[in-house]
Amino acid sequence: MSVKDNPQPPRSRQIANILFLLAGAFLLANLFLPQLFGPSITRVPYSFFIDQVENGNVVAVSLGQDEIRYQLKGDDNQPGQVLSTTPIFDLELPQRLEDKGVEFAATPPPQNRWFTTLLSWVIPPLIFIGIWQFFLSRGAGRGGPQGALSLSKSKAKVYVQDDENKVTFNDVAGVEEAKTELEEIVEFLKSPDRFTAIGARIPKGVLLVGPPGTGKTLMAKAVAGEAGVLFFSISGSEFVELFVGTGAARVRDLFDQAKKKAPCIIFIDELDAIGKSRATGGFYGGNDEREQTLNQLLTEMDGFAVGDATVIVLAATNRPESLDAALLRPGRFDRQVLVDRPDLSGRWKILEIYAGKVKLGSDVDLKAIATQTPGFAGADLANLVNEAALLAARNKRETVSQADFKEAIERVVAGLEKKSRVLNEKEKKIVAYHEVGHALVGAAMSGTAGVAKISIVPRGMAALGYTLQLPTEDRFLKDEGELRGEIATLLGGRAAEEIVFNSITTGASNDLQRATDMAEQMVTTFGMSKVLGPLAYQKDSQNNFLGNGGMMNPRRMVSDETAKAIDDEVKEIVETAHQKALNILKSNHDLLEKIAQQILETEVIEGEELQNILNQVQSVDKVLTAV
Ligand code: ADP
Ligand code: MG
Ligand code: ZN
Repeated sequence: MSVKDNPQPPRSRQIANILFLLAGAFLLANLFLPQLFGPSITRVPYSFFIDQVENGNVVAVSLGQDEIRYQLKGDDNQPGQVLSTTPIFDLELPQRLEDKGVEFAATPPPQNRWFTTLLSWVIPPLIFIGIWQFFLSRGAGRGGPQGALSLSKSKAKVYVQDDENKVTFNDVAGVEEAKTELEEIVEFLKSPDRFTAIGARIPKGVLLVGPPGTGKTLMAKAVAGEAGVLFFSISGSEFVELFVGTGAARVRDLFDQAKKKAPCIIFIDELDAIGKSRATGGFYGGNDEREQTLNQLLTEMDGFAVGDATVIVLAATNRPESLDAALLRPGRFDRQVLVDRPDLSGRWKILEIYAGKVKLGSDVDLKAIATQTPGFAGADLANLVNEAALLAARNKRETVSQADFKEAIERVVAGLEKKSRVLNEKEKKIVAYHEVGHALVGAAMSGTAGVAKISIVPRGMAALGYTLQLPTEDRFLKDEGELRGEIATLLGGRAAEEIVFNSITTGASNDLQRATDMAEQMVTTFGMSKVLGPLAYQKDSQNNFLGNGGMMNPRRMVSDETAKAIDDEVKEIVETAHQKALNILKSNHDLLEKIAQQILETEVIEGEELQNILNQVQSVDKVLTAV
């Protein structure tokens, strides 16, 4: 597909505008220039004129209101010079002229006077309007070469088919349900008659909903590519921009244009920018501009009648819960298509698409990569393949190897390696025991993801060392035991420091933060506390009336006793996990020593070597019964 400009740039209006200004300038010039540059008539004082009359030098006088013109006697039949003077209030003048036998008459009023007056009233405002619009259009036309008077033109980009880089459903993977839904939309666009013949109503609006980077925008383009129709694309935020009152006009223009080009697709990306619930804005005083734009959108969507040309409105958002209910009712965006993060096989397919574009080594196992990347969206995976390819190129290798992918995943998950951050010997030792502590507790806990790597090479913004846990399968539910296990694993680092050094460093702050958050969620969100019961003490942040929990306390109003009980429970969970971690490490003390010494030498332990060591860890049950 290629992007083209707005198909009807308002060229003609622009030209009209320029002509208009030129005409104005021309008229003005006609009115004033003759006076400035016309044949000049010498102006003389009134007394001089009277002298000339008295001396009998004047033959004819034309008396005007603002000017008296008179002609002197010429020599030998030659007409004399014409002079002018400014009249004063002189009632005797006619008498004087008559006495001297001078021919005189009043100047007829200029024929075009009313016209001049009119023009002098009309033209200056017109010039100002012209200038004003010129500046407005410069402001509004930033998106494209649109000229004056184009203020309200929608800024939609139009994608037109061209076969080389057309996006099709083959370019989208891992979102099969969404694809099936949208294939139906393509059918509507290709042969609407089949549906209308039975009396079925073609859906007007389809809302793509899903987290960022899952391919919503890509899907919309694929729909256009498959259906082979025009595709108007505009982002919600572009409607509401710059000038108050233009958003609604843009919506109107966009739909007008689309109706002319039907069948076609209008794609509104990031719909939440205009479609936010009108109720939520109220707190700070609503946003009138956005509301008007939204209202116009609602009107337009109701606007096309049955039998109208097929215009389907696709929209995408990652915050469906914030949309105004009016947008979602039947007849508007009545279809919602979930574009979710891909599952294992979906990730595998997406990796196949992007791996096909780079040179792969023979050792690359895409399925293994897909397994290690739960939670990655399509965009993350595309990025991952690119990172791996960059790594291979940087190391001057011909093909991308599995090791490149492994490093790329670590980069995404844990950040860049920072070899430059040098730890002193004591710090290095602490980090080593800390990380091994995480690894041992993690290995002892059933259900937590497998420990894949321990490293004491600093990485990312803060991590001095890290223990990489990679899941072995996609998980959608976790039980209480697993969560407790994860909390214990998080506390394993600090527990190791306590046991080995008998002191505590600042290095565990991030672990503690995450452990406490998790424990709090167990109590307030998942209802996992026996004391507090299955109540949600946390408000759903989306239903929070500031939208994102912003400045408001996200917790439900609770009595002081309940607040205290929550605090006690959270503390209890974390403390229990802490004890568990301490117990595991105490009963595996030899192993802890051994691995720590080893990692101080090698800096990294991973793979089979690591698995062999971790298999020696006594499981948590044995530990618990032993204590
Ligand atoms: P969204 O609009 O949902 O935030 P995009 O459609 O903009 O995400 O995705 C960004 C990029 O990520 C796409 O251009 C594409 O390269 C890649 N991508 C995302 N999801 C997929 C997918 N399901 N299949 C293939 N590529 C994808
Ligand atoms: Mg998008
Ligand atoms: Zn830690």
